[in-house]
Amino acid sequence: MDPGPKFIVDNNVGRLAKWLRVLGFDTLFINPIADEDLLAIARRDGRIIVTKDRAFLRRREVIDGRLKVVFVRSNDRLGQLREVIEALNLPAPDRWFSRCLACNAPLTAVPKAEVADQVPPYVYATQNGFQRCPSCGRVYWPGTHWERMRAELQTVMAGPE
Ligand SMILES: [Zn+2]
Repeated sequence: MDPGPKFIVDNNVGRLAKWLRVLGFDTLFINPIADEDLLAIARRDGRIIVTKDRAFLRRREVIDGRLKVVFVRSNDRLGQLREVIEALNLPAPDRWFSRCLACNAPLTAVPKAEVADQVPPYVYATQNGFQRCPSCGRVYWPGTHWERMRAELQTVMAGPE
């Protein structure tokens, strides 16, 4: 599968990191970080910078197209997400919920029996498709938290009311 674009999220729009990970994108968020370091990482990894800081748009390497910046105007979280999605023409829902929200690692499917002592009994009894983060060990399942995020995403994808 095409891994799609990679991102680095500036501190002024830090909450977007989680949402880009929900959508399945490799997204770095380092807090605190100096502008020069953020630029260096974007350059090194080929990451798109997501920021509310207009100053990035005046950088020579951004003007001449070597670095890509998504400049976010909205102050609210879903408005910001909508701007990113519209700017980049994102993405196929089949990759949603494939990445750890805490540490950005791709999740791997894990047999149900292996998570028996790691999830609440009710979850174990009612869910089947479990995934685990190979980095932090966190276990994910399509429960109510993800359902709520999915509903918000569908609202965003549908466009402004
Ligand atoms: Zn993790």
